[in-house]
Amino acid sequence: APVITVPVPLGDRAYDIFVGRGLLAGAGPRIAALGARAAIIITDENVGPLYADALAEALQRQGLRATTFAVTPGEATKSYASLEKVCDAVLAAKIERGDLVVALGGGVVGDLAGFAAAVVRRGVRFVQVPTTLLAQVDSSVGGKTGINSRYGKNLVGAFHQPSLVLADTALLDTLPIREMRAGYAEVVKYGLIDDARFFDWCEANWRGVFSGGLERDEAVAQSCRAKAAVVVRDEREDGDRALLNLGHTFGHALERITRYDSARLVHGEGVAIGLCLAFRFSVSLGLCPAADAERVEAHLAATGLPTRLSHVPGGCGSVDDLLDAMAQDKKVKGGALTFILARGIGQSFIAPGIAVEKVRSFLAS
Ligand code: NAD
Ligand code: ZN
Repeated sequence: APVITVPVPLGDRAYDIFVGRGLLAGAGPRIAALGARAAIIITDENVGPLYADALAEALQRQGLRATTFAVTPGEATKSYASLEKVCDAVLAAKIERGDLVVALGGGVVGDLAGFAAAVVRRGVRFVQVPTTLLAQVDSSVGGKTGINSRYGKNLVGAFHQPSLVLADTALLDTLPIREMRAGYAEVVKYGLIDDARFFDWCEANWRGVFSGGLERDEAVAQSCRAKAAVVVRDEREDGDRALLNLGHTFGHALERITRYDSARLVHGEGVAIGLCLAFRFSVSLGLCPAADAERVEAHLAATGLPTRLSHVPGGCGSVDDLLDAMAQDKKVKGGALTFILARGIGQSFIAPGIAVEKVRSFLAS
């Protein structure tokens, strides 16, 4: 299958994202081209047994010393305790600054291993080999790494760009369907932000994305192009990188209300409901045609994603519970919230100063 290259032109930290089915088997030369002598593969106990040996052997064939360290799967692993274990594993494997930390897994492994790479020896190079759709289209691109604290998610971290991203779309064949759908919500998000043609394409081609046709590679590559473009414009998120939060103000609140219990709601499911709410809210403010909000909901629902507050298992509490959960978001300032709203599909914009009362009357309606 053809390999699609997406460049991320970040000056002296520029790197490439390679997207293609079956990339892992030929990953050796691409990683070896970075010039390291050794690599440690950080993975989790679901992904490791499936793919770590193939990756380690691909590296060893290029003469690299390769070892593997597996962490427990799940969000709870983005912790200080696992950070210590991963840092110590990197040091025990005698990884020098010119060597590589290779993150083989979903966003949990990528964020944790990337942060360890950022701080061990004040910065070791790292490579992302994302194995979930969410990681391939979102978390592996952009250089945000980190762990959670008792005060909230992703509050301790660093910007540390990878030296290379290898997105082998065949690895998604073993991904549970719920995780696949959750990642797909982020794919749709890129169309909704500023690319109506890509949203049209998603409506026509989503089945191929799920079944693993060439459409999957195209969707991953297009998402990476979209995210890379935003990251290059605004690496540190003080400007329009915030557009990537479309659907996330509501989505994060739902995750908080369901206590980050993945049995109830995973991130992408919160985002799917959040995208629908962001569009319906935009309609209620008179900004967006109702037909666009209906199309967004119809498409996400067709793929099996939840789209309404009533779809949250166990419910999502009262309007006040939701507002409280939103108020804990870092995007709240003085009784007003910053939302990403839309004038239509592909026409999103940052809307600061949305009064809490407007959100309340929308949610109560
Ligand atoms: P995850 O890493 O927990 O993976 C989901 C589940 O799928 C896990 O159980 C994992 O073991 C399993 N899995 C992974 N790949 C598999 C495969 N190929 N086959 C079978 N099982 C597989 O979850 P995620 O959704 O990938 O990532 C979520 C994390 O990403 C969150 O912590 C979030 O904060 C973070 N994130 C970071 C950024 C960023 O910019 N750094 C962006 C978005 C999300
Ligand atoms: Zn997200």
